[in-house]
Amino acid sequence: MTLHRPLDTAVGFSTRQLHAGARPGTTVNPRVTPIYMTAGFVIDDFDHAGDIFNGAEGYSYTRVANPTAEAVERTVAHLENGAEALLVGSGQAAVAVTLLGLLQAGDHLLSASSLYEGTRGFLIDNLSRYGITTDFVDDANSPEAWERAILPSTRALFAESIPNPKNDVFDIEAIAEVAHRHGIPLIIDSTLATPYLLRPLDFGADIVIHSASKFLAGHGAALGGVIVDNGLFDVERSGDLFLHLTTRDRHGNPSFAERSGGLARIAYLREVMALRFGPTPSPINAFLINQGIETLSLRVERQSQNALGVARWLEQQPEVHSVDYSGLESNPFHPLALKYLPRGQGSVFSFTLRGGLDAARDFVNALETFTHMTHLGDVRSLILHPGTTSHNARTDDELSQSGIWPGTLRLSIGIEDLADLLTDLERGLAATRTVVA
Ligand SMILES: *Cc1c(COP(=O)(O)O)cnc(C)c1O
Repeated sequence: MTLHRPLDTAVGFSTRQLHAGARPGTTVNPRVTPIYMTAGFVIDDFDHAGDIFNGAEGYSYTRVANPTAEAVERTVAHLENGAEALLVGSGQAAVAVTLLGLLQAGDHLLSASSLYEGTRGFLIDNLSRYGITTDFVDDANSPEAWERAILPSTRALFAESIPNPKNDVFDIEAIAEVAHRHGIPLIIDSTLATPYLLRPLDFGADIVIHSASKFLAGHGAALGGVIVDNGLFDVERSGDLFLHLTTRDRHGNPSFAERSGGLARIAYLREVMALRFGPTPSPINAFLINQGIETLSLRVERQSQNALGVARWLEQQPEVHSVDYSGLESNPFHPLALKYLPRGQGSVFSFTLRGGLDAARDFVNALETFTHMTHLGDVRSLILHPGTTSHNARTDDELSQSGIWPGTLRLSIGIEDLADLLTDLERGLAATRTVVA
């Protein structure tokens, strides 16, 4: 029995320290979704407990559901034009939960080869330990290339909408068609695009993943990951390929497809993957992500404008060999950017200095406004040398295939004044000139 009434002063100190201040169940109405920093929730009465464990509405334990996390889930599902979303502890957790929730030992994943390094490593080194194999498609915008690589055991296609550092915009619509011909989902990691610039589900993707640590939270303070499903799981078409969604459990309970229909996939992720694997986000992080999303459009609009300004400026500098930004008319992916990213082409891109590794080092060390760190999507502008950091496990061949050379630097452009960013970059270029002389 929870103590709701004021405590009697005769109550012992230990009891008072636990119960004197708390008012569980008090109805207040805060405008901002509060941080529900609690492991669990008070159950109304004896019978309600049984109902909750049988799947009735109501909160029980934060690993199952938490109101602060649910606010993020509702918002991102809505912004992505999706049916339902799940918030987990990081972007990596979102990738892992999605893939482990769809594939099992013996299954095959087909992925674009232009990928976030953490995901690429996970597919090659870790998922393989569970008997799930991955092949990579280099020519990622060719439907024929995907078609040729699909095996009878292929259970999903995976790609990023804007891979970094090459900015090789992915043709979602063309490849979604290939996936659907085989009754399997197309999963898009859309972290760099954000739902403000692109909604992959509108173009036929089935599941969208975000690292909420980047643009959604936006201020570099919290980690999180979101999975959004379109709610269109089709038992007729795909039921035989995903037996864990369509067969009854060992107690004979209705299958996920029987209970949740088109929402079978996301129901499985929430009720099995989140519950059993435990990638639970902290309610504090969920709160910070909620706050961040409130200004997503303003930040991403400004970041995209700034990025285009920086890219155009860099393209004109004699020390710069190339700029990989799909917003530039000169970029091979510009036509796809016009189709998929008409509101702006995002904040993250790379450029390559003619002076190679030494120039890159002098450039980075001279900067004052840009922050040197391995993160992106921050309100602050960031810079990193992928070849010696995030991508240091790659061979020279793999690096050049990904558009990474010794002089390549990755930028994540923030919301500072453009003129100040250009002044800082000019400082970097000046440092490379001093060294050459
Ligand atoms: C950062 C990132 C991830 C991983 O997200 P974390 O929140 O850092 O775990 C996955 N995919 C992409 C494209 C990313 O940029």
